[in-house]
Amino acid sequence: MGMGIQIFSAVKKIELSEKDKIYDIAVIGGGLAGLTLAIQSANAGYQTILFEKESYPFHKVCGEYISMESHDFLSQCGVPLQEWNLPMISKLHISDCEGKLYEFQLPLGGFGISRFKLDNTLATIAKQKQVELCEETKVEDVLFQNDLFTIDTKNKKYTTKLVAGSFGKRSNLDIKWRRRFSLKSKNRLNNYIGVKYHIKYDIAKDLIALHNFQNGYCGISKIEDDICCVCYLTTTDQLSSAGNTIEKLEATVLSKNKALADIFSKAQFLYEKPLTIAQISFDQKKQVENGILMVGDAAGLITPLCGNGMSMAMHASSLAFQQMKLFLEGSITREQMENQYSKAWKNQFSKRLAIGRLVQSFFGNPFVTRIFLSTISKTPKLANWLIRQTHGSSFS
Ligand SMILES: Cc1cc2nc3c(=O)[nH]c(=O)nc-3n(C[C@H](O)[C@H](O)[C@H](O)COP(=O)(O)OP(=O)(O)OC[C@H]3O[C@@H](n4cnc5c(N)ncnc54)[C@H](O)[C@@H]3O)c2cc1C
Repeated sequence: MGMGIQIFSAVKKIELSEKDKIYDIAVIGGGLAGLTLAIQSANAGYQTILFEKESYPFHKVCGEYISMESHDFLSQCGVPLQEWNLPMISKLHISDCEGKLYEFQLPLGGFGISRFKLDNTLATIAKQKQVELCEETKVEDVLFQNDLFTIDTKNKKYTTKLVAGSFGKRSNLDIKWRRRFSLKSKNRLNNYIGVKYHIKYDIAKDLIALHNFQNGYCGISKIEDDICCVCYLTTTDQLSSAGNTIEKLEATVLSKNKALADIFSKAQFLYEKPLTIAQISFDQKKQVENGILMVGDAAGLITPLCGNGMSMAMHASSLAFQQMKLFLEGSITREQMENQYSKAWKNQFSKRLAIGRLVQSFFGNPFVTRIFLSTISKTPKLANWLIRQTHGSSFS
């Protein structure tokens, strides 16, 4: 840890009894980062516990397009991707705010699958591998003392040698620990909302389309069972200028783009109401907070138009586990584990996040979006370069 004893909450007593079980790794948050980290840990024979505040299966706001870089990793984790006959996606269409379409190829490509199915499958695999999976269990706090962590949940405390923080974009723990990004007042990187539906709509299986609108963009692509995932990102200001109602936002702002007008008027919507999240922040975060290795969105969130946050989350879990394993084997100290993980994370992702933020700044303003799209569509090399900069390569 390199900082001596750290206590997150002001005054708190830790009661450790001799008979308390000591886990090797505790994982807070069972999204893709947390579940894949827990599976790697269990595969290596470590006593692993995972806390998830929800109960599987459940839906999540996400575009559900996964870049190919994590295909092999997911298969290694035991996900039967080959058997599922999922839509393989290799084409990208981007429309400007009026609906004028530009066509690109995706060098690496991806596939579509719902989080409902994917996260649930990983949770089932984790349980089969003897991960102690605590659903409907929200972690309230974590304390470090005497070289061990205590995880505090509503009903029980747990003791562990290592902790991974995989609690997503924004959680009660970010607020409690006063993480820097959560204290910032509203700025251009932190006032976004996300909205998602599953729909039935006619779109090619090998295509992901990104439709721009004033202050936002909406992705659509196929997932399993011939269903489409539609997911958009916009600012809270844009929502309030549409009277704070999603229906009005879609009717008056999104539908100015004729591609979106078609989707919203013709599709069959499979949810009774949209799934929404607020307070999305693309601000920088720290990869290690008081001895806890942060993975996935808890370590840094890439703008969704890059379409690879899920792969990055899983890749970060692989990087974190490599270092945790070295520590548990006694090959490195805590301080070395933290430093090496931070360094590996930055090497792998910092540039991608920065380019993601830059590209996002070209979207939202109808004029800038049009100029940007018409420029890159005339220079395919530039388009390919930009897409490649936001994607990594396959990992294990
Ligand atoms: C609008 C939008 C569209 C996107 N589209 C795509 C896309 O098409 N492709 C792509 O690759 N990426 C996309 N992303 C990014 C992607 O969704 C994330 O990068 C990915 O889900 C990160 O996974 P994670 O495991 O870090 O977090 P999550 O999947 O969010 O998991 C975190 C988990 O932690 C749990 N949790 C939180 N606090 C606690 C607590 N205190 N105790 C216990 N559990 C807790 C939560 O319930 C949650 O299940 C999109 C993001 C947004 C906002």
